[in-house]
Amino acid sequence: MQRVKLYDKTFRTFITNDRIMSAIDDVAAKINDDFKDCEDIPVLLCVLNGSIMFMGELMKRLSFNCQTVSIKLTSYEGTNTTGRVKQAMGLTADLTGRRVIVVEDIVDSGNTIVELKQILADHGASESRICTLLLKPDAYKKDIVLDYVAMEIPNDFIVGFGLDYDELGRNLKDIYVLDE
Ligand code: 5GP
Ligand code: MG
Repeated sequence: MQRVKLYDKTFRTFITNDRIMSAIDDVAAKINDDFKDCEDIPVLLCVLNGSIMFMGELMKRLSFNCQTVSIKLTSYEGTNTTGRVKQAMGLTADLTGRRVIVVEDIVDSGNTIVELKQILADHGASESRICTLLLKPDAYKKDIVLDYVAMEIPNDFIVGFGLDYDELGRNLKDIYVLDE
């Protein structure tokens, strides 16, 4: 087991890169299956910054024509959610009439995806699906269907593979959990 220190906190290895890769293989296969005969060009919406690594790994496994668009939302401060979702950067392209696959790092309370679904509806997307690398089922209390979930985890604070603790740890290739 490996440990990393970010600011005042220590984290230990929780999900290895190998396991992350095989979970992404599986979720990409499901998406490919659902979109294999599509006649439109679906949009992958990267929710910055947390989803950058997942987005890169996911998109290289997709075999239908797709485009990428980004948006930047923030809700966490330190290791806790503020409960408010802020739009730090708006959509980078027009999504009118488009089918959108939201690519999220993690669904926790679900506040972010509620906000995202609303933003996409307001911008005229014809459909939005949610694809998340991680889900905390014990924290998620919303009704929105999560179309593609790569892995479920307990209600613990994690970092790595794009996820941060106050902007540190995003570059770690494995996922780490707070070691208390
Ligand atoms: P929600 O709005 O579902 O409560 O939280 C979604 C956002 O909070 C995620 O996209 C992610 O940026 C952040 N988040 C939730 N849980 C964690 C966690 O365990 N670690 C980190 N680093 N960020 C998290
Ligand atoms: Mg996120």
